[in-house]
Amino acid sequence: MAEKSYWKAIRRVRVSLVTNNRVSKGYRAGMRRCFASYGLAFATFLTVVPSGRTSEGDFYLGFPLSNYTPDNAPISSVFDHSMNTQYSKNGTVIAYTGESGDQHSITGCDCYNKSDGLRFVVNGNYTGAVSCGSAYYLCYDGHPGVDYAVVNNTPVYSASDGVVYFPSTFPGVSNAQQYHTVEIDHQNGYRTYYLHLSSRVVSEGQNIIQGQVIGYSGDYGSPGAYHLHFEVQKNGVPVDPYGWEGIGADPYTRTANVNLWNPPLSIVNIAFAPFTANQGDLLIFYYMINNPTPYPVQNVRLGAQIRTSSPQGPWMDDPENDAVVTVTPGTGGTYCGGTTCWYFRNFKTQQAITTGQYDVRFVIVDNTTEQWFDSVESPYHLTVIPTGARKTADLNGDGYVNMVDAAIMMHYWGDTSKPPADINQDGYVNVQDVSIMMSNWYNP
Ligand SMILES: [Zn+2]
Repeated sequence: MAEKSYWKAIRRVRVSLVTNNRVSKGYRAGMRRCFASYGLAFATFLTVVPSGRTSEGDFYLGFPLSNYTPDNAPISSVFDHSMNTQYSKNGTVIAYTGESGDQHSITGCDCYNKSDGLRFVVNGNYTGAVSCGSAYYLCYDGHPGVDYAVVNNTPVYSASDGVVYFPSTFPGVSNAQQYHTVEIDHQNGYRTYYLHLSSRVVSEGQNIIQGQVIGYSGDYGSPGAYHLHFEVQKNGVPVDPYGWEGIGADPYTRTANVNLWNPPLSIVNIAFAPFTANQGDLLIFYYMINNPTPYPVQNVRLGAQIRTSSPQGPWMDDPENDAVVTVTPGTGGTYCGGTTCWYFRNFKTQQAITTGQYDVRFVIVDNTTEQWFDSVESPYHLTVIPTGARKTADLNGDGYVNMVDAAIMMHYWGDTSKPPADINQDGYVNVQDVSIMMSNWYNP
């Protein structure tokens, strides 16, 4: 496939990405049509691989309240990381942020202030429970869920796909019916609970999907204190969907708390056909990372390995090519569209290899999960530029690769007349040349 057609396809993908916040079925169908129009088989070009940004793999929660996110919803009671069992009291409340309240100073209120006399921050929208009335008090001791202070009849959504139950009891609560409880069994060990609903609009045994309205918030079982008690249990043990952000180890030891709000970072897989390389050749690797999370930055470690493909040799580490990549949500930057960004990286083969057919693969490590991308399917995302077969990125020959060279390059952008800015001499001035230029910045 001609290089130019390929980049046309890429541009169309980027347009597609702008309108898609998540890799949905519709998105994939659009991608498939797009690539088919260029004679590319979508399946071999691109697959979506959840990298497992938490130890829970690709399980994550949608937020259960309309018009809110985990970051801006008003929290009136936190999950207490100091509790031994749900609703047991030990005189301390610790939020997922590590903020701690240990001075119980208001009679009739199960809330705790802190020695510095300052307000609690939590998610920045912490209100404190109605009974305490302010964010100077952390509430409340042994609380196994998160309370969101929202007005009556706010739509409540299922946090993930599952089956609906109206339990009379659930672990830690013996009188669930008194709170108009909805339980959703996500059938992977996780269950979510929604309490105090003014009404429920689903029925027991019903299969529902993430984001489906299950009822409306209220004060059922807590007269006058309108809020949604949202609780997540894993194998019958409460967990904090915010995870643990405090300094040091999580004091809650019953099970691991992981942030379940963030959709998993997914790598839109780029794979490579065997290629010919020599030691020192420049490999340009470009890949796309889908980062739908509203959370700002994630670090991903890239590691490289190389092997002969014929005869097939063992994978050899190429550790000097390891890198930490900062992945930001797509915000309309140069190579970002919607929530997905393209990343470019140059690698130089470090192994003492001889000319021949090679495979390369990259490991993408995101927190706890490794995902190798092998060079087995598509050549389109790896370019090999042999040593000496490219022009210097110092286009004006002044000894530096700088803005002057960039200006020259941009002047020739897309030109097919093989101008000096076509650094890799493939007939086009394009992002591959930019990638080479950036790798030589100030040092041709
Ligand atoms: Zn509660």
